[in-house]
Amino acid sequence: TKVDAAQPNYIITTDATYPPFDFQDKNNQYTGIDQEILKTIAKREGFTYTLKPMSFNAATQSVTSGQADAVIAGMSITDERKQVFDFGTPYYKSGIAWAVKKGSTIKSLKDLKGKTVAIKTGTAGADYALSIQKKYGFKVTYFSDSDTLYNDVINGNSQATFGDLPVLQYTIKNGTKLKVMNPTNPYEAGWYGFAVKKGDNAQLLAAFNKGFAAIKKDGTYQKIVNKYLGAPA
Ligand code: GLN
Repeated sequence: TKVDAAQPNYIITTDATYPPFDFQDKNNQYTGIDQEILKTIAKREGFTYTLKPMSFNAATQSVTSGQADAVIAGMSITDERKQVFDFGTPYYKSGIAWAVKKGSTIKSLKDLKGKTVAIKTGTAGADYALSIQKKYGFKVTYFSDSDTLYNDVINGNSQATFGDLPVLQYTIKNGTKLKVMNPTNPYEAGWYGFAVKKGDNAQLLAAFNKGFAAIKKDGTYQKIVNKYLGAPA
């Protein structure tokens, strides 16, 4: 592949804190599964980009408002989002889990009655929590970043959260004192996708998909995933 002089330098947004998909290493460089996939594909396909880390909600809105060309942020492919985004090839299977503080007496969703659930603005996990809020009678409190949200549950200000299973599991493995309540049956299982505004940036999307197919085939994709999540058992 050669660099196409006509190709612009793309602006790509991401979630500032979403390990193991998007986060800063000890030298403050962005890394993670998404970032390694993106970097590898860009190099292969000969495009350049400027990465703009921000809250997840801002990252997706920057694309729909035309301020950025694409987003990669552990973003779930949903029917609702397909109305306003074009997604690349699904690249990672995920699903929604709920979690409580380690040692919490909460055992089932019914125990959430009258309690407060911390949710992340603009996420699939937040939508799921809101869809069952009436049934289980909990209150919600919004956060724009995952770390502040986890701390709110650990501090006991809120009593549970809903979010992506692989992300919660990774965070817990790295010492966050939470416990996933449905590790084997996540809700709304689905996939993550790279996204552009619907109808825009077809060239970038095609380059992403072409590069993704290549790194899937040659084992690079699996190597990247294994680096962060370990080889599958
Ligand atoms: N996968 C979730 C979503 O797309 C959360 C993404 C995130 O918080 N970065 O809504």
